[in-house]
Amino acid sequence: MSFLEHKKVDDVKLYINGEFVDAHNAAYFDNLNPFTNQVTNRVAEGDKADIEKAVKAADDAFQTSWGRMKQKERMTYIDRIADLIDEEVEEIAVLESLDSGLPISQTRKMIARAAENFRFYSRMVQSRMHGEAYAVDDEFINYTVYKPLGAVGLITPWNAPFMLTTWKVAPALATGNTVILKPAELSPLSANKLAQIIDKAELPKGVFNVVHGFGETAGDALVKSEKVKAISFTGETTTGKTIIKNSADSLKKTSMELGGKSPLIVFDDADFERALDATVWGIFSFNGERCTANSRVFLHKDIKEKFVAALKDRVEKIKIGDPMDTSTQLGPLINKGHFDKVTRYIEIAKEEGCEVVQGTVPEKIKSGNFVPPTLLLDAKNKMRVSQEEIFGPVLAVIEFETEEEVVQMANDVDYGLAGYVWTNDIKRAHRVAQNVDSGMLWINAQNVRDLRIPFGGMKASGMGREGGHFAILEFYSEPKAIHVAMGDHHIPQFGK
Ligand code: NAD
Repeated sequence: MSFLEHKKVDDVKLYINGEFVDAHNAAYFDNLNPFTNQVTNRVAEGDKADIEKAVKAADDAFQTSWGRMKQKERMTYIDRIADLIDEEVEEIAVLESLDSGLPISQTRKMIARAAENFRFYSRMVQSRMHGEAYAVDDEFINYTVYKPLGAVGLITPWNAPFMLTTWKVAPALATGNTVILKPAELSPLSANKLAQIIDKAELPKGVFNVVHGFGETAGDALVKSEKVKAISFTGETTTGKTIIKNSADSLKKTSMELGGKSPLIVFDDADFERALDATVWGIFSFNGERCTANSRVFLHKDIKEKFVAALKDRVEKIKIGDPMDTSTQLGPLINKGHFDKVTRYIEIAKEEGCEVVQGTVPEKIKSGNFVPPTLLLDAKNKMRVSQEEIFGPVLAVIEFETEEEVVQMANDVDYGLAGYVWTNDIKRAHRVAQNVDSGMLWINAQNVRDLRIPFGGMKASGMGREGGHFAILEFYSEPKAIHVAMGDHHIPQFGK
């Protein structure tokens, strides 16, 4: 499928109360293509008034239909959404690549997995959304049940839009909540496709709503709405802090999946080629716009020279190109503003004393937002380029000598999302895994995760965990404790 065949994409509307509608003031904003910087289509620009409409629809649907529906019936809808995603994997992957610049070979795999998010939560809710019961002799029985929260707000970023959106929508709906989704303004297309799929699955009106628009207007109104019970947010750490503050007045539950600056540590006994493959994939896949990217690689001094030579060779050969070309490995960054930010960090790296080694962007595609794969050699952990999230295809390469020193450097950073350690010494592998401060750590592995395992970070990388039963029991529902007396226990008789 060539890129040109997909230049024309219909304008996108809001999806509120089961209908595709204009924003209340009929405003639209332009959606740009990262490969050409030309307008792909126009997107309805929702704001506070549209959010209020969507919140009312979601709240009504919770009270009247979705919140009261039998679990089995609800799961029929969830499974139907999964089947419909399966039917449209190719179409969604094309939209996603067009919108985000992510290579089509990578979006196809991401989208194929998105259907499984719905099936997984259908199974998980049916098998795990149950409470506990305690019989207290034959006097009492205490038990818990898990109840959905009501209307919940989901706010998502642009870097892996469909996958991250379905991570949230699937557990939120499966547990019985209704949803208002505010997708990233830079990547609205696959969220609109999800609305079309859910519309086709004929969920009751108002159960799922999408309000496109900007963070400071639509997102802000969603966070501050009194009727919204919780906000699940994925995005930058600074935005997360603002959202926590703004949700305080309505005492909202929040879940925060934020930025990262994750370390990958290669010891001298590591399986060299596999560690190299994982390092290159972990920073240059998804165009480097990946929250769990290993943006700092720590190399043991005895293998550093050989590893750096191999990295230089890979960087030279990574295929940079049209995201719609199946052989492309690295596409353009999301927009010009982000391109400027990443490019500026490469300049900072030079000022801080790094040697910069880069691949080459072919001349004919230079109008796109391409940053070539970039190595920052001789980086030090204290440098800004090793401390701040660049969110592009840029790898800081840092040397170490001892285990103690590398763990100290890995932890000497604000973030704590992911970590990776490569060594064949089993004791050291586990020691390092235990000692690196991150929500997730992989030993001799790239970033692969079973859906049953929690996802999330510590420190500035987030608060709370989603994934697995954590999403349904700890975030999208509330435990209720019921205390029942079975006999006539003592009750003090004040005033008798
Ligand atoms: P962002 O914070 O700029 O935007 C994310 C979303 O928040 C968008 O929908 C935006 O419109 C909205 N928003 C912005 N300001 C808001 C406000 N005041 N109130 C309510 N909503 C607001 O993030 P981004 O640039 O879209 O995404 C990249 C960031 O996301 C990176 O930092 C990356 O590490 C992080 N990320 C984290 C994870 C994770 O799971 N930890 C996963 C993917 C991306």
